[in-house]
Amino acid sequence: MILTVTMNPSVDISYPLEKFNLDTVNRVVEVSKTPGGKGLNVTRVLKQLNDEVVATGLIGGALGTDIQKKLSEIGIKNDFFEISGETRNCIAILHEGNQTEILEKGPTITKSESEDFLRHFEKLVKDEETKIIAISGSLPDGLEIDYYSKMIGICEKYKKPVVLDCSGKSLLEVLKNEHKPKVIKPNTEELAQLIGKDVSKDPNELKEILKEKLFEKIEWIIVSLGADGAFAKHNDKFYKVNVPSIKVVNPVGSGDSTVAGITSAIHENANDEDLLRKANVLGMLNAMENLTGFVNLKNYEELFIKIEIINL
Ligand code: ADP
Repeated sequence: MILTVTMNPSVDISYPLEKFNLDTVNRVVEVSKTPGGKGLNVTRVLKQLNDEVVATGLIGGALGTDIQKKLSEIGIKNDFFEISGETRNCIAILHEGNQTEILEKGPTITKSESEDFLRHFEKLVKDEETKIIAISGSLPDGLEIDYYSKMIGICEKYKKPVVLDCSGKSLLEVLKNEHKPKVIKPNTEELAQLIGKDVSKDPNELKEILKEKLFEKIEWIIVSLGADGAFAKHNDKFYKVNVPSIKVVNPVGSGDSTVAGITSAIHENANDEDLLRKANVLGMLNAMENLTGFVNLKNYEELFIKIEIINL
């Protein structure tokens, strides 16, 4: 079983409008409200792959209940920890080919909730059915910046691998900490943020960056490069992954879909090549759909064989 973690989930509201009029009323006909947050996108893709998955994290209030209900309706097992604050809404207004987003910050977590969640999490990690943990997204307010390191420390205690997809200060903190995730998956923007300078997609430059001390003891570093595929380091091996060109509909969530592929591949003990193929195919399949965290697996095999993996 795979455990996914979403610490600041949301109800994602999409408002499609032909034209977005400022300073007046806009009426929306087709509204969609779905459980969101990067970890829940990962969860949905894993479910479509038929992997056994349980979603956890923090939820609160009526919107939290709504998320639990919607996940259960589509057969996604979940075991969230309830907090006193209210789970947030995130609104995307789709207009004239643009996407204007209004993102609530979400609840502030109290000290006792922060401690109690770690106990809840430990119970789930300890379960012998749990084989791997995928942690995605930002930390809500109130949690200390090294909170992910504490969670990774718990996973280490039970020898369960972690795939971590977060950015900024919380990722930097993890890299400096003694408890290491098995995999991280930054894109070039996130990598640049980490090292404090611009990063190109040049494989030779990426190779030098990933050899830096900051990345020591992280078994897999997979840098996703959008239409240019990915660059990866597995222990002392380096790979460039080239992907075929595809018809992109909506690339939002492609990185989450990639994380689902990485986690699923590790769960099934795939070799390096198959792991990289699965991760990239799923990223592409997400980009080819309108919905975030949705993949049409009918096209899986066709793309899988078109991916080129070069040892560097
Ligand atoms: P993130 O969403 O984290 O920024 P990326 O945009 O790099 O992640 O996308 C993740 C993966 O999805 C890429 O490594 C690639 O395999 C696939 N992908 C994303 N956009 C495209 C695209 N335009 N063409 C082909 N593949 C894509």
